[in-house]
Amino acid sequence: MQFVNFDRIYIHTMNTFSIAIHGGAGTLVKGMMTPEKEVAYKEALQVALDSGYSILEKGGNAVDAVEIAVKVLEDSPLFNAGKGAVFTAIETHEMDASIMDGKTLEAGAVSLITGIKNPVSLARDVMEKSEHVFLAGEGAMQFAKVNNFNVENPDYFYDELRHQQWISIKDTDKFQLDHTEKKDSKFGTVGAVACDKNGNIAAATSTGGMTNKRYGRVGDSPMIGAGNYANNKTCAISCTGSGEFFIRGVVAYDVSCLMEYKGLSVKEAANEVIQKRILEIGGDGGLIAVDTQGNIALPFNTEGMYRGSKNSKGLNEVSIYG
Ligand code: ASP
Repeated sequence: MQFVNFDRIYIHTMNTFSIAIHGGAGTLVKGMMTPEKEVAYKEALQVALDSGYSILEKGGNAVDAVEIAVKVLEDSPLFNAGKGAVFTAIETHEMDASIMDGKTLEAGAVSLITGIKNPVSLARDVMEKSEHVFLAGEGAMQFAKVNNFNVENPDYFYDELRHQQWISIKDTDKFQLDHTEKKDSKFGTVGAVACDKNGNIAAATSTGGMTNKRYGRVGDSPMIGAGNYANNKTCAISCTGSGEFFIRGVVAYDVSCLMEYKGLSVKEAANEVIQKRILEIGGDGGLIAVDTQGNIALPFNTEGMYRGSKNSKGLNEVSIYG
């Protein structure tokens, strides 16, 4: 005799599916933001949000949704990922990205890559087409070529504002989450988290890192557990902020642990880490998180965080400041 688990069927048909995105926690300070720029940022966020949401709406999975949303943000020069990535101390672009599937705990990450239009897709290929989780530098580039990724000319990634930011601090030891030094810039890592109709969750993060970072520096964004994490037992998380502190705070995994071991909700856990723990060690930034019920948390301790959230109950919001 076959038993049908009605509880499960009920939960699945009622599942709220949702997506949240971020475009970095270091926004233009309010005084520097013009109405035109604000519209441009919000439009770009909405396009990314909609592209991920439409995958979920059609019954697609969370991994596909986060990848597409991050790709849209990587393709926009407004954010520090893919096109528009910041400059390293030697005037190059070195990008990092990662993706994680909360259902299987499979993950893929790349670091120190150049010329790849959509680093998040390369991270996904590492997850799905290699036996490894994390490839960096020349090995990652070789893997990209074998898997038919084009290598773009540096001009593709060039952005005038990012170049000016770099010129202003080059030849110093400073590297910046721009807004902390000059009040007219940002740290615009991008990320997405999603919960699909089946209650599976995923997270993806992509970045150019920090302006004038030392050649070879790796931030939190590609590190599973620091800048990115997803686990169906708890939540999916993508972080943005001062990477060195997020690595030391093992931020994404800490949020998950607070839920798993202490029974906190996704909102409580995310707030605890961003409004307390990361500040205690001197870090600033924010994160986006979603649980398997589709609940979203978007905490940040900076002036703003480019962000958006959308769910099957009618929520649809993009915002910049607190
Ligand atoms: N977390 C990123 C890094 O340190 C920077 C950012 O969030 O913009 O590479």
